[in-house]
Amino acid sequence: MGHLSPTFEGDTVVVTGASSGIGRAVALAFADAGATVLNADVREEPKDVDADVPTHELARERGVTAEFLECDVSDPAELEAVVERAREYGGVDVMVNNAGIHVSKRFRDVRPEELRRVHEVNTYGAFFGTQLAAEEMISRGEGGVVVNTASTTMGVAEWEHSHYATTKGAIRMLTRSAALELARHDVRVNAVAPGPVATEITEGWSERAREVGPESDATDQPTLPLRAATPDELPGAYLFLASDDASFVTGETVWVDGGDHVC
Ligand code: NAD
Repeated sequence: MGHLSPTFEGDTVVVTGASSGIGRAVALAFADAGATVLNADVREEPKDVDADVPTHELARERGVTAEFLECDVSDPAELEAVVERAREYGGVDVMVNNAGIHVSKRFRDVRPEELRRVHEVNTYGAFFGTQLAAEEMISRGEGGVVVNTASTTMGVAEWEHSHYATTKGAIRMLTRSAALELARHDVRVNAVAPGPVATEITEGWSERAREVGPESDATDQPTLPLRAATPDELPGAYLFLASDDASFVTGETVWVDGGDHVC
């Protein structure tokens, strides 16, 4: 079967949390598509097993302009500095609000500071990332696209995910609400909801996810119709939503989860 290959030559794409995991794969896919890529992350070094070259260096090897920008997305001032930097490359054309944290915890044990922190990073990061990028797109008058990273937990309850799930539910409604108000400015806002992906965020789940790979018997994981993904299986949805091929798509969250949400 074939592949879609959108082109982003001349576009500036900001991906938050692109040092590792899904964000790294998304940033490199945009680099492959010719975009200037800015990685806004709290740490430069990848956390992924077998990955030691920073994302922006790999992107440059693909022949594009790329930078690492140290940024804690929970601080709108730091996000603003990223948008400011993007202006030097013509302004943000695509904003991918992907940075996120996750800690497994039973609902009854979640402390106020833990709930606050996961919302500061996941929810505030995506909210103000969307708002600041949209302001910049509107001021340039050329429109643009935002793609947020949600999760299957936005709609499916999972054990020990309550505080994280409330951030992802918020991102789903942020995506719809912002899409409503920004459409008149030619800014589309969509999201991707990954299911289990073998990255470091999932603590220990990585090993299991690698075991439940394409060759394994689907009955190994009866609640997951396909299997766990590798990060490389996610970018296609991001690039589609960011591309002109999705010009009539806004406010949508696309499940990219191996069928996880149907169970
Ligand atoms: P990851 O831990 O591999 O990558 C997360 C990246 O975000 C890291 O590079 C990290 O340094 C960065 N980051 C963390 N806090 C930050 C902050 N305050 N400011 C800026 N950057 C920060 O995890 P991942 O699995 O690639 O997760 C990426 C996104 O995908 C997250 O939003 C996560 O919630 C979501 N997601 C992951 C899965 C999964 O199974 N891996 C499933 C659904 C959704």
